[in-house]
Amino acid sequence: MSELKPLPPGSTIGIVGGGQLGRMLCLAAHRMGYRTHVYAPDPAPPASATASLYVCADYQNSDALAAFAAECDVVTYEFENLPVAPLDAMEGKLRPGTRSLAIAQDRAAEKRFIEEHGGTVARWRPISEPGDFDGIGEDIGFPLVLKSRRLGYDGKGQAWVREESQLLDAWDAIGREPAVAEAAVDFGAEFSILVARRADDELAIWNAPRNIHDGGILRRSEVPAGDPVDEHVEAAVAIAAKLAMELGHIGVMAVEFFATPEGPIVNEIAPRVHNSGHWTIEGSQTSQFEQHLRCICDLPLGDPALVSPRVTMDNLIGNDVDLWADLLAEPGAHLHVYGKREARPGRKMGHVTRLG
Ligand code: AMP
Repeated sequence: MSELKPLPPGSTIGIVGGGQLGRMLCLAAHRMGYRTHVYAPDPAPPASATASLYVCADYQNSDALAAFAAECDVVTYEFENLPVAPLDAMEGKLRPGTRSLAIAQDRAAEKRFIEEHGGTVARWRPISEPGDFDGIGEDIGFPLVLKSRRLGYDGKGQAWVREESQLLDAWDAIGREPAVAEAAVDFGAEFSILVARRADDELAIWNAPRNIHDGGILRRSEVPAGDPVDEHVEAAVAIAAKLAMELGHIGVMAVEFFATPEGPIVNEIAPRVHNSGHWTIEGSQTSQFEQHLRCICDLPLGDPALVSPRVTMDNLIGNDVDLWADLLAEPGAHLHVYGKREARPGRKMGHVTRLG
């Protein structure tokens, strides 16, 4: 058991990464009386507008990271593709630590970790040279998906392969990077388990959202998840809790699952607050953002219970955000716009949550 030292209001919470997750962490932190300091390499990222302080510096710059940490009481991250070694400059202020990042940002390490701790993943093998494709048809079967080991998100760095003759073209398409080849999962639905862990091992877990993706991007999360997710939630919660404990993860993390007749199959771990938890802002007693701060600040955990029998969250992707005025006119629609300047296709510009 680690000793808890609650961080008092007025303290400064550092956030590495400047996207919408950082923006929403800042909003929750300010309501709780904290100051916020954001570190990101862009001149005006979404989180800079909601932070007390902002520094624009490179993620590789350990001197800048050390100076940033010196101005903060605790530091967290909202982006999982951070280079890990420079974060050592944070001298023990980083929560969660770098272990969660190091494992989650490498798809091969992540799959091994999940399997070692009792989770099931799709049949897979690592790919680092053309010879690694030998016998893959018998071993994994087609279709399969090639995913770069690092730096993939929202379906980027991925290529589907329907037959053997497409393997090398698919690998070219993802830049001949070290990859994993993964069997196509014939799933009935996708869902996630969001788990919050405090340093003394106390956990809080929200109702599981069903997640609907299109083109590799999350479009909608719905709670309750319903069939065929519900029968798998108990087993999935046990796996997610075990992974959080084994990582020594402090804060919120998401584990994404496929619901299949054989049971829940883990797709991936996100070692941070997650898009499939945005519904918790209005839909639960304690949002994922507040709960993450409660974890990293050693505060009592909040109640994750639903405040409504049904909650849906729809992402506003690209030009969807042009509907903002209509959404504001809709009774009961809770609109969040992230303040990104350009509505590029596939870019998450905001979201809308509806209760009931
Ligand atoms: P990822 O970036 O790995 O989360 O993949 C994005 C989305 O692509 C997932 O949420 C699924 O909808 C789909 N997908 C990824 N891997 C597989 C798989 N092995 N089988 C079926 N669908 C997949």
